[in-house]
Amino acid sequence: MSRRPVVAGNFKMNLLAEEARALASSLRAALVAEPASCDVVLAPVYTSLHAVREALEGSSIALAAQDVHFEDGGAFTGAVGAPFLVDAGCTYVIVGHSERRQLFGERDADVQKKAQAAQRGGLVPIVCVGETLEEREAGRAEEVVLSQVKAGLEGLDLDRVLVAYEPVWAIGTGRTASPDDAQAMHAAIRGSLSAAFRDKVRILYGGSVKADNAAALLGRPDVDGALVGGASLKTESFLPIIRAAKH
Ligand code: PEP
Repeated sequence: MSRRPVVAGNFKMNLLAEEARALASSLRAALVAEPASCDVVLAPVYTSLHAVREALEGSSIALAAQDVHFEDGGAFTGAVGAPFLVDAGCTYVIVGHSERRQLFGERDADVQKKAQAAQRGGLVPIVCVGETLEEREAGRAEEVVLSQVKAGLEGLDLDRVLVAYEPVWAIGTGRTASPDDAQAMHAAIRGSLSAAFRDKVRILYGGSVKADNAAALLGRPDVDGALVGGASLKTESFLPIIRAAKH
């Protein structure tokens, strides 16, 4: 079983193009000096993709978008389809982030179409799942997460997908799932996958991952990396998380 860890930075709606470029350059330089033991992915705002792509040119750090439209092109004002993201240099795209689900009304059916569109276009979707605090307190966390996983992975080639477990109550709140809780949910997600892919699919944890909790989370057997929001916005907070991800 060999699942190389992945650490992905989701800049959300932060960092103007030159700020994102500077961060990418600084991370790149640090990883040239001491290579990472994990795959590293940066997901800037759409309008910063070009600048970050230039900063990463020729490096092993990959570029991601934060969302994708489920149509490839046409009369969809304001939307960005997978072919445009590939054209902008992306190899990954985040789909179904809880902010998209909660603030923009995305449902499992939308996430499914977006993940399929991503793969159709040649991108690796990072399919985000996670329960709310209310769902956890009602004892429904696993049921909710597994049904999101089932919907989000439907029809996908599981060789080309990442899953990110991000409890909604842990995102941007400073509250993190304990390493044991994260491991339990990751094991449940893994157990729900078809036998052929169970040991192959990489499952990232997200939700207030910081330098001081990364090693404990990433040290758990079914936690294959991290999706990092706030702490990915500065080299000094992101680099220690990348360093904590060991094969
Ligand atoms: C995220 O945006 O996916 C995330 C996990 O955010 P934060 O690390 O800030 O909680």
